[in-house]
Amino acid sequence: MHIETTAVHAGRHIEAGTGAVTPSIHLATTFERAEDGSYPQGYIYNRLGSPNRTMLEECLAALEGGASAAAFSSGMAAIMSVLQALSPGDHVIAPLDAYHGTTRLLKEMLAPWGLEVSFVDMTDLSQVEKAMTPKTKLIWVETPSNPLLKITDIAAVADLAHASGAICACDNTWATPVVQRPLELGADVVVHATTKYLGGHGDVLGGAAVFRKNDAFTERVHNVQSVGGAVAAPFDCWLVMRGIRTLPLRMRAHSENATRVAEFLAAHLRVSAVHYPGLSNHPSHDLAMKQMALPSGMMSFQVKGGESASMGVAAKVKLFTRATSLGGTESLIEHRASIEGPDTTTPPDLIRLSVGLEHPDDLIADLEQALVG
Ligand SMILES: *Cc1c(COP(=O)(O)O)cnc(C)c1O
Repeated sequence: MHIETTAVHAGRHIEAGTGAVTPSIHLATTFERAEDGSYPQGYIYNRLGSPNRTMLEECLAALEGGASAAAFSSGMAAIMSVLQALSPGDHVIAPLDAYHGTTRLLKEMLAPWGLEVSFVDMTDLSQVEKAMTPKTKLIWVETPSNPLLKITDIAAVADLAHASGAICACDNTWATPVVQRPLELGADVVVHATTKYLGGHGDVLGGAAVFRKNDAFTERVHNVQSVGGAVAAPFDCWLVMRGIRTLPLRMRAHSENATRVAEFLAAHLRVSAVHYPGLSNHPSHDLAMKQMALPSGMMSFQVKGGESASMGVAAKVKLFTRATSLGGTESLIEHRASIEGPDTTTPPDLIRLSVGLEHPDDLIADLEQALVG
């Protein structure tokens, strides 16, 4: 089935009892037991599972081509739960260029918990190979990466992981299953901040993990979800589902708009570099075209004149909103190094764009006036 159809129908059930075509939001925290002590509908208590979460998890598993999914209260809760399904003493290989929250989680919380972590340039497979130890249990991939839009070869990294009995997890937030399907390329777990493109409207925080098969590791993540308790709330699940219905359409529009914006920036005299996998001069353009169906809506660029010049551009936009996050209908602009803090490795002149669903001519006109002198 095509992803447009899956996005509209997966997890959708006409409601028994009312015939409602659009799902209701079930806020109940607890569910009635039968006289024999059983749970006739399968639900016990909201943390263990709820009707809206079941619908969303079914939908997410179908979109990514997975065996099952687990929905969380945030993207970070999903990442935390996947990594906590490992054991203290296990070794993880993670990318140098990645979502800042993931890097902080590994360094500030999971390293003290006992996880050993090596950070490598994940686009250089020889670095990944060199970092492998007998204790390596998981390789973390994020592609395209934040904020430099580096492209990692998911199939090649998954092969390296499997050759040593490790698993490969891929943060697919910036691509979405419309653009890229890591499980089909060999990854074992896909992680999402559903806060971004899947929710798609900047009004819900959420996360998800989707699993290629239901094995012991998957079981452990589901256990961290229900025992740890960072589960997605019913209304949040409903909002993410509502967003997913239009995801394929939105990703096409985000990609088209971002391509226009990237081409404009690449030709601008004040711009020293544009990082966008859809541009033919991106260092991994061929790989991007191979594993991504669309270039997606995220990019970053560098302005000549250093940090103050790039801050100046962000200060002058009128249509773009100066804010963090991404994947909503409105375009956002962000000076990235200053939000990541003093330990950032992001270039100080780098600006990140989340290109929204406005008309690309209006977005380009806004950047054009902001880039004047
Ligand atoms: C936003 C984001 C996260 C974290 O998600 P939250 O919902 O903010 O916790 C993780 N990975 C990537 C790539 C993100 O963009």
